[in-house]
Parts: sequence; C-alpha cells; structure tokens
Amino acid sequence: MFTRITESPEQTAELAVMVGKKIREGTVLCMEGDLGAGKTLFVQSLAATLGVECEVTSPTFNLMNIYEGICPILHFDLYRLETEDQLEDIGFFEYTEEPEGIVVIEWADKFPEAMPEDYVSVKFERTEKVDERRITFSVVGEKNTEQLEELEAFCQF
Ligand code: ADP
Ligand code: MG
Repeated sequence: MFTRITESPEQTAELAVMVGKKIREGTVLCMEGDLGAGKTLFVQSLAATLGVECEVTSPTFNLMNIYEGICPILHFDLYRLETEDQLEDIGFFEYTEEPEGIVVIEWADKFPEAMPEDYVSVKFERTEKVDERRITFSVVGEKNTEQLEELEAFCQF
C-alpha cells in the first residue's frame, strides 16, 4: 500500500499521468471516494495518457463508456446502480474478470462482492484543506503486487 497527497486538481492529474505511464494492460482499477473526491478527474488524465483523444465524462447514466486509446479503456461508474443484476445486463463480469485493456470502476466499493479477484484499489479522501486529497493505492489478490511496487517507485512528485 502507498499513499500520495495532492494539493490541487492539477497534481491529481499529474499523478494519473504517472500511473498511466506504468499501468499494465489487463489491470482493473477500483476507485472509491465521495462525490467530488477526484475520481473522474483522475480517469480523464489517465485516459489521455493512454492515448484517448475524445472527451472523457463519467458514465453516470449508462454505467459504462469504452474509449479507444493504445488499448481499450473501460470506464464504469456504479453511483446510480441499484442492484447487482444490472451489472450482469451490461456484461460487467465479462469485462472485468479477464480484462482486455484497462478497466476503471468509480464507486467500486458500493458492490464489493461484484469486484474481480484481482484489482488495484485507489481510494480518494478529502483532508482538512479544500484542495487537498489523500490518494491510497493497494492491491486485492496476488496478481498486481509487483505492479503496485512499480507504481510506488514511479509515482513521485
Ligand atoms: P468524483 O468523480 O470523485 O466525484 P470529480 O473528479 O468529478 O470527482 O471532481 C473533483 C472536483 O474536486 C473537481 O471539481 C476538482 O477541481 C476538485 N478538486 C480540488 N482539489 C482537488 C485535488 N487535489 N484532486 C482532485 N480534484 C480536486
Ligand atoms: Mg465521478
């Protein structure tokens, strides 16, 4: 596990650029944190780093967007999801169990049982300062242990 503090939206974007340069294809990033914590901003910068040229917006109503970058980038937002059945309907499990490309899931903590065996968790927290965020990376499962170490070494301001 490692944590980075960002002091502005720009710095969170910069952190996402560093993650984007190192992240391996086939990785699932499960993101948690309150509304306005910075999840979507992080995904926007990550996607841009992975070669996505179109605008990235949170897929709040349709639950999933797919972007073409150097690999497919699947962006889920489970904020409005009410039941796990809907995940089945949109093919969530096919996309996340053996992911092609990179999968990012906002509000992953709403449905912890639906998450795959292996993923990188990214937790966003506000601090007492308005523009400051505490961003904590950890792994669930064995698969991403080495990748987390690489990310920790590379993500330095
Ligand atoms: P979420 O997807 O978690 O609901 P967003 O990324 O949509 O959050 O919004 C984050 C908001 O917080 C943006 O308006 C952004 O400008 C603001 N903000 C302020 N400080 C930071 C920071 N350090 N990191 C990320 N966002 C920040
Ligand atoms: Mg969001």
